[in-house]
Amino acid sequence: MFDKSTWIKLPRNVLQGHGVLDDLADAVADLYLSGDPLLVTSPSPERIAGDRVRAQFDDVATVSLDRASFESVERVVEVGREHDAGYLIALGGGKPIDVAKMASDELNCGFVSVPTAASHDGIVSGRSSIPEGDTRHSVAADPPLAVVADTELLAESPWELTTAGCADIISNYTAVKDWELAHRLKNVEYSEYAGALSQMTAEMLVQSADSIKPGLEESAWIVTKALVSSGVAMSIAGSSRPASGAEHLFSHQLDRIAPNRALHGHQVGVGSILTEYFHSGPRGEWQDIRDALSTVGAPTTADDLGIDDETVIDALTTAHEIRDRYTILGDGVSEDAAIEAATITGVI
Ligand SMILES: [Zn+2]
Repeated sequence: MFDKSTWIKLPRNVLQGHGVLDDLADAVADLYLSGDPLLVTSPSPERIAGDRVRAQFDDVATVSLDRASFESVERVVEVGREHDAGYLIALGGGKPIDVAKMASDELNCGFVSVPTAASHDGIVSGRSSIPEGDTRHSVAADPPLAVVADTELLAESPWELTTAGCADIISNYTAVKDWELAHRLKNVEYSEYAGALSQMTAEMLVQSADSIKPGLEESAWIVTKALVSSGVAMSIAGSSRPASGAEHLFSHQLDRIAPNRALHGHQVGVGSILTEYFHSGPRGEWQDIRDALSTVGAPTTADDLGIDDETVIDALTTAHEIRDRYTILGDGVSEDAAIEAATITGVI
């Protein structure tokens, strides 16, 4: 019997460009939502763009959060219920978007993503990552109903956030390889379409790498487009597999061992150099990944990340324990092998 089914949830409106923040209300009107919005933000995006958002709606409550946590999610849910919010508008970098994503799931309403930094693919995807204690919880939720990415605003964000977004995209190369491997060895469900889209997204970004420069608004355009496309690949796959493999496990492990040292995208970029080495060996494509990262100005070594060599080896040898996701790390990399990989690739 043929009993397969798919349910693909995608953003309905994606607006990208110079000054599109002022078209937010139009993008929302086009969704035929009912009720008033609740604006979820954090102090600095609130300062930069809060009033521009509020000016477009008659009745909008605001919650400003200091950090992403489960308490923040609860607060948004409370305020959302109090105001009987019809939908959420998440304005900010990763934090308000992650929180709004989870809160909208609990409130049974949709949310609109208005990123002010192009630092990771969470701005478009249906995955939320919330820290708790020394670990992070990755939770599945619905993707945003709409994404309004104002390149003027994004171009003003600190440059390292943009290079982190680039590195998160470049890591799609190894994520797809891990997914294919898991498919071959463990019969994990694989989508050719999502895999190809994710890989092509990375290729297109690398081809445009020369236009990714500080002070160039086009950079924000290229990176956001790639983040949207990567988010679409995850929506099609119904999982984060197209954009998250062993390099992400490595990064999550760094978050546990050495929290808040480096940005997510930068960690997965360095992780991608290492896991590509495991995939294709000393003469393999790890050099292409390293070169792509260095062209956009993203870190390629432990030193660049501000993380010591021992911590990198520690994370690399224990990353496979993080979650039940089969990757090139298999049941673990020995310390000697980890040191060799990190030394040959110049990571340590
Ligand atoms: Zn990522």
